[in-house]
Amino acid sequence: MNNTRTNKSFEKINLDWKLVQSELKLKLGIEVYESWIKKIDLHEEFNNYILLSVPTRFIRDWITSRYLDQILQTIRKHKKQIIRIEFKILEKNNQKSEKFNDLNQKNEIENVSFIKDSHLQYSRIDPNKRFENFLIGSSNKIAFEASLKVSENISHYNPLYIYGGVGLGKTHLLNSIGHEMSKNKKVMFISAERFMYQFVKSIKSNEMVKFKENFRNTDVLLIDDIQFMNGKEAMQEEFFHTFNALLDKESKIIVSADRPPNKLSRIQERIKSRFSGGLVVDIQKPEYDLRRKIVNYKINELTNLYADKVNVTDEIQDFISNKVTTNVRELVGAINRIVSFSRIYNKLPSLSETKIILKDLLNLTENNVTIDSIQTIVCKFFKISKNEMLSSRRSRYLVRPRQTAIYLTKILTTKSLPEIGREFSNRDHTTIIHSVKTIEKLKEKNPDMNNNINKLKNIILYNKEG
Ligand code: ADP
Ligand code: MG
Repeated sequence: MNNTRTNKSFEKINLDWKLVQSELKLKLGIEVYESWIKKIDLHEEFNNYILLSVPTRFIRDWITSRYLDQILQTIRKHKKQIIRIEFKILEKNNQKSEKFNDLNQKNEIENVSFIKDSHLQYSRIDPNKRFENFLIGSSNKIAFEASLKVSENISHYNPLYIYGGVGLGKTHLLNSIGHEMSKNKKVMFISAERFMYQFVKSIKSNEMVKFKENFRNTDVLLIDDIQFMNGKEAMQEEFFHTFNALLDKESKIIVSADRPPNKLSRIQERIKSRFSGGLVVDIQKPEYDLRRKIVNYKINELTNLYADKVNVTDEIQDFISNKVTTNVRELVGAINRIVSFSRIYNKLPSLSETKIILKDLLNLTENNVTIDSIQTIVCKFFKISKNEMLSSRRSRYLVRPRQTAIYLTKILTTKSLPEIGREFSNRDHTTIIHSVKTIEKLKEKNPDMNNNINKLKNIILYNKEG
């Protein structure tokens, strides 16, 4: 597994995975460590995401539904630019997988070998993401139909540009197009990050010609997450020419992004204008009907993997569909948790157990935490006034509460550092970073501090003490 990492010498930081694991051991406890964390290997590191491997699907689902945030947080302490984690199922030779995995395992293993000899093979089409298992509602219908038309070769628009927020199904659609078209066409499916990685690698190894040929020979080019393409004139130049060459020979180009073309930053104007020249469609947040449909479908899909079927009640299905509204990924995560719970405890969770299992997801959805409410609650907790908190006085009895409020704002809201700075009497963003770091350190060393933070979190998030 390590050999995939050694040839990436230009990556500046190599994550010490053992260290990350031992920090997680401290954070999550020995039991969680032994049962789950220990079983994760670092498979490959990329610029801003990493690929972890686990022996079974079940372990992956369990880990993603419960510990992903903490794992990501810990990783980011060592490598700030990592913004997401992907998992691969890698069955260990000497270890037989759980029986319900066999079918899917096969696909996943084939999938993994793609990555290993990625020298020439850029594609990584996930056979589990197809048109057939993409559920349609009013929020994603247009994107779905446009994708289907491209794959049936009856679309005159080129390129197709699909955009929408995280977890709404963009990658799923790109995958579906790739899956369908690869039956009789040369398809290349690559994330913008990977495109950049291959580009740099090709320059270093003098394989630019091969790189160009590779891209320009394809009938279908699918590029995921184009918003991550940035900087590097030379690369954008290459991309632009590849793009034109492909359009000239009527190859299909499909691009996904988290925003419309004109909102892309760091991408040349002429490339953006090419994107806008085709068909631009968006995916919206899923509406209730679609959420309900997905919940039902995913539960069936998951429970069919097990010999002893679990029947998640309508009440719980309704509850999830009603409460988890942000995106499909979270919806799927919620379902995974319910099914995992049922397997582990051999019973279905009750409604109140469901609320506990999904606590953070529910809260994310209904997140109405404001800086103002955090300041008010922290002031009350430490018995200081808001004026004191926002003043420039640096007495010790004010500094800690202030830092605590700043820290809580950072972790509980999506506000940027400068925004937080502004809300705390125009403090500089470096002061904000310093506060966050200070509290993080104190929390680790000082159980009282940790305790207080947890209490405050509970009050802020759930309006309750203790
Ligand atoms: P994005 O690329 O937009 O961030 P993904 O395509 O990765 O989102 O979707 C997140 C998860 O939700 C995936 O597991 C995907 O299969 C699933 N998903 C998204 N939309 C749908 C849908 N309409 N029907 C079924 N599954 C979906
Ligand atoms: Mg995606």
